[in-house]
Amino acid sequence: MAKEAQLGVYLVDSTASPEQVVAVAIRRCYSNRPALELMEKISEQKRAELIRMVSASGHTSTTEHAAFVFAVEGISRAASHQLVRHRIASYSQESQRYVDLSKEPLLYITPPKVRRSAEAVEVFKGQMEAAEAAYKDLLVRGVEPEDARYVLPNATETKIVVTMNSRAWGEFLQKRLCRRAQWEIRGMSMGIAHLLKSRAPKIFENVGPTCLTEGICWEGKMSCGLWQAVDGGELRVRQKHHFKQGKTPAEYSFLEE
Ligand SMILES: Cc1cc2nc3c(=O)[nH]c(=O)nc-3n(C[C@H](O)[C@H](O)[C@H](O)COP(=O)(O)OP(=O)(O)OC[C@H]3O[C@@H](n4cnc5c(N)ncnc54)[C@H](O)[C@@H]3O)c2cc1C
Repeated sequence: MAKEAQLGVYLVDSTASPEQVVAVAIRRCYSNRPALELMEKISEQKRAELIRMVSASGHTSTTEHAAFVFAVEGISRAASHQLVRHRIASYSQESQRYVDLSKEPLLYITPPKVRRSAEAVEVFKGQMEAAEAAYKDLLVRGVEPEDARYVLPNATETKIVVTMNSRAWGEFLQKRLCRRAQWEIRGMSMGIAHLLKSRAPKIFENVGPTCLTEGICWEGKMSCGLWQAVDGGELRVRQKHHFKQGKTPAEYSFLEE
């Protein structure tokens, strides 16, 4: 019988010394010393200084040299679809074409708002059980898993391995830790952020939605309002600005028209 899945977020592996690698890359930009000298152990304090410098300036391409691999399970196909929209990444997902899901109870994810009402839970559970029954029925009739899966809902559980470099994880977490992201991918992102901060605290010192990292919310009318709780926080709108009267450099004059 179909049953609830449990979220699991695991750090499979990462670049062996992510902060050292990133620090070497940063140093390369500002030094002509031979590589072997550059690679000499950089003190913790120096690494922190270098990483903070690029994070503050936004020159974060140097953080692309460190990669982090996660295994995630117990998320819905709806959430995994949101995840794989992030293109600067590598993914390997459990195949619904080749894996016969009838051998175990069908795993699914119930949204918290459905759980608030016993009646809603009954409706939801009933749909999952009906989908599982239809899937199994089709297999019995000789339909392959790849075609039988068409009756499975968005709530169906999936397992995925995802690799991103530090910069891509930072940009991912900026969007998906924001309260505007949906509860499920946000919950998964909390687990990922926690593990990234443990593995490479300097690189991931300042991750999260822009209200927390920059004191700016760009969500306009959709804003959750959290920026109001941030010291110096502001809700800002992207708009065109003009040079002060008489200060427009000639090369920009065409943009001012
Ligand atoms: C709250 C929220 C609501 C959303 N709602 C919707 C929705 O209603 N409909 C919908 O379709 N999606 C929606 N999305 C998904 C969103 O549009 C993005 O697809 C997703 O967040 C991935 O972001 P990205 O493209 O910046 O990331 P990535 O694909 O990882 O790209 C990272 C960065 O690389 C650069 N880049 C990558 N590919 C290209 C390219 N081809 N050309 C130029 N630059 C590139 C860009 O600078 C980009 O920001 C939503 C996302 C969030 C967080």
